[in-house]
Parts: sequence; C-alpha cells; structure tokens
Amino acid sequence: MTCVFCKLVKEKSIAQSKCFYAIWDIDPIQEGHLLVIAKSHRMSIAELSSEERLDLLDFQEKLISCMEKQASVLGVTVVVNNGNVMDQDLHFHSHLLPRYVEDGFWDRVQPAQKIFPKEQFEADLQ
Ligand SMILES: [Zn+2]
Repeated sequence: MTCVFCKLVKEKSIAQSKCFYAIWDIDPIQEGHLLVIAKSHRMSIAELSSEERLDLLDFQEKLISCMEKQASVLGVTVVVNNGNVMDQDLHFHSHLLPRYVEDGFWDRVQPAQKIFPKEQFEADLQ
C-alpha cells in the first residue's frame, strides 16, 4: 500500500511528539493554521490507541500555549474532521486555528439545521 503521508508529513514537520507531527496547513483558512497529524497510519479517531489520544491532547496543549504567546493571537480553535467529512487518504489530524480580534471566523460558519437526531444520539450513548 502506498500512502504519501507516511513519508511526506515527517519531511514537513515543524515539531513533533511521540505519536504526532505538527505541520503548516498547505491551504490555511486562518493565518498560522497548523495540523497535528498522526505519525502512524491512522485514519480516524477510533483507530487511535489510548496512548495516542493522550499524546494528542498533551501535544495540542503545548502548541496552543505557544500560539497564544504570540501577541496577535487571541486564542485557538481546535477542529477535528472525522468519518466521511475527513479529507480522503489523509492520516487522522486535528486543525489548530489561531484566532484574531474581529477575525469573523464564526461569521463564515453556516447556521445549524434541525437534522441531527438528538434523542436517538442520547439513547445510543447509554
Ligand atoms: Zn499513511
């Protein structure tokens, strides 16, 4: 099996933890948009081991704290796409999106539609 990310991500990384690399997003939606990508060939959050999930949180915290030291950064929004909304054939990753004063970030998000089955979801969680 060929997976470009198994090789490419390592070359592009600006920082790493035991299980993840941090790389700049090649198509940023905010200035400083960072990806935290699994080193292993994991394709969803469900495929991550417990160790990887803990490492992900620790690594994200380190990156977020460093981002928030930058004078222009107000805070950081974390986004994880999973399932069929994830970019095809890309390793599991989270997006760290630096936020700036009056950046209009949420203005670009569509309002919620009433199509999520909340009652079924809550029953499934039991
Ligand atoms: Zn891979």
